[in-house]
Amino acid sequence: MKTITTQKANCRDCHRCMRSCPLKAVGIVNGQARLIDEKCVLCGRCVVECPQGAKQVTSQVSAVKEAVAAGRFVAMSLAPSFVAAFPEYTLPQLAAKLGGLGISLVEETAVGAEEVSRFYSRLLTAAEKPVISACCPVVVNVVTKYYPDLIGNLAPVASPMLVHAKMLKHRLGADTFVVFAGPCIAKLAESRDSASLVDAAITFRQLREWLAETATGDNSPPAAAISAPGPVRYYPIAGGILKSFVRSESTATDIIAVDGLDNCLEVLAALRKGEIAPRFIEALACSGGCINGPASGCADSVPAKKLKVAEFAVAGAARHHKSPAGLDFSRCHTQAPVQEFIPPESRIREVLRQTGKYSKEDEKNCGACGFNSCREKAVAVCQGLTEIDTCVPYMRSKAESLANFIVQHSLNAIIVVDSKMIVQEFNPAAEKMLNRQQAIIKGGKLSEVLDSREISAAIGKGEKMTDRRVTIAGGTVVNQTIIPVPEHDLAIIVLTDITVQEKNARELEQMKLQTVEKATEIINKQMHVAQEIAGLLGETTAETKAALLELVSLLKAKGKN
Ligand code: SF4
Ligand code: SF4
Ligand code: SF4
Repeated sequence: MKTITTQKANCRDCHRCMRSCPLKAVGIVNGQARLIDEKCVLCGRCVVECPQGAKQVTSQVSAVKEAVAAGRFVAMSLAPSFVAAFPEYTLPQLAAKLGGLGISLVEETAVGAEEVSRFYSRLLTAAEKPVISACCPVVVNVVTKYYPDLIGNLAPVASPMLVHAKMLKHRLGADTFVVFAGPCIAKLAESRDSASLVDAAITFRQLREWLAETATGDNSPPAAAISAPGPVRYYPIAGGILKSFVRSESTATDIIAVDGLDNCLEVLAALRKGEIAPRFIEALACSGGCINGPASGCADSVPAKKLKVAEFAVAGAARHHKSPAGLDFSRCHTQAPVQEFIPPESRIREVLRQTGKYSKEDEKNCGACGFNSCREKAVAVCQGLTEIDTCVPYMRSKAESLANFIVQHSLNAIIVVDSKMIVQEFNPAAEKMLNRQQAIIKGGKLSEVLDSREISAAIGKGEKMTDRRVTIAGGTVVNQTIIPVPEHDLAIIVLTDITVQEKNARELEQMKLQTVEKATEIINKQMHVAQEIAGLLGETTAETKAALLELVSLLKAKGKN
């Protein structure tokens, strides 16, 4: 099952998701953005960045509802950032609301985090190489996919969610339906990979929607909750994991807290190169920590959320809980390196040439395509991850040169003037029609070559004017169209030479008139003869006269048309 999908109907092909993805895990195929699962680490940035809400996060809310409807005991593990995501509720108030949804028990995931901190504490003293925290599934995904050589540095311990789920099942029975709720999208996939522990995972945004659609009322029985100790309630803020287990005598030089995916990538790169070798690295993919998770569903600022967490931590339980006996919280991480096809240099150069980059100097490296360099983008084209025409500067210059080609080769005179009637553009057809050199008239007044009064009036009104028959210098008759472009303070004048058509129309008119005259002459002659033999022909003569007169009037009418 996919965790993030793109709704084609909502997608407007703006490619923002692609530009915002730090790992270039969004490809463009047939003009549409699509997630490349093997490369994606589920940081959720593309979901947040999509202006159309086209990136959808999978939901397991219906599975939880079904469990409730089936009468199962549903225990919710509530990520500690809930205080920041639901600032309008205290824990008992939120638990009461959740009780109204049919949740049987609510407990802070921080209860599980306490066990994780104990594990980290032991690692800190015993580990022989730098330890990278493994609480954040995005960081785990980054290491397993992009830094598989550092997999031995990942703390071999399950995340607080999995640890807590194991504790709940152990304490409440294997039949308990455990649902995790948090601000994290990657946790949804992590829970699916450990389906025997976590029956469902939902985001805080989804939980908020569920609460909004269900009026629970305050008389609902509150779900029970066990309070977590204060220090582990700091987990969702940057530096909070360290705060839960690092003793004050540890120096800042051998322990690093890093947040934000870009910063995490930088630290991992430095670790790989051997530039740094700290004892412990706390790494959270979201800037500021889980309080700023992509599905927190709360738009409050990070500092405001941080303060909420700190207040909540201060009010935490004073005592530490005893570790449950016989439970193993260790975890083995598996490499899943991204396999990338490296195209031959000749193919890369060919793609670069197709976008007008023949030398290093042509490579603008502007990043508008979503890649850091033209070369990186060319490689992605070869890998089938994006398309040639996502190069914005190339497409713009192509469009401009095409438009220019059409203007230069048009048989119609095309003149562009500004609102002061100063000529900005004067194509070769205009040069020929108005007998003026572009170099001379460009920058001069339109009135030097055309009667500009009507044009000026049309531009002033901002109204398009079409099919005006105008005679210009030299007797040329033209069809004049005026297109004001107010947003650019310009107007386009198109003149189509209709001199020949006009001449042909006049000749045709002349011919019709001559035909009518000839017909009238014949009728008159015929009438004269008819009068002479009137006695013999009687009524037949009158009918002939009527028919001939009708013919004359018909010809006259046609002549007028
Ligand atoms: S950001 Fe959203 S609308 Fe834009 S391409 Fe991506 S999915 Fe489509
Ligand atoms: S979830 Fe993150 S890694 Fe995956 S495609 Fe979106 S931005 Fe890229
Ligand atoms: S920092 Fe927290 S919310 Fe963000 S990806 Fe990691 S675990 Fe999820």
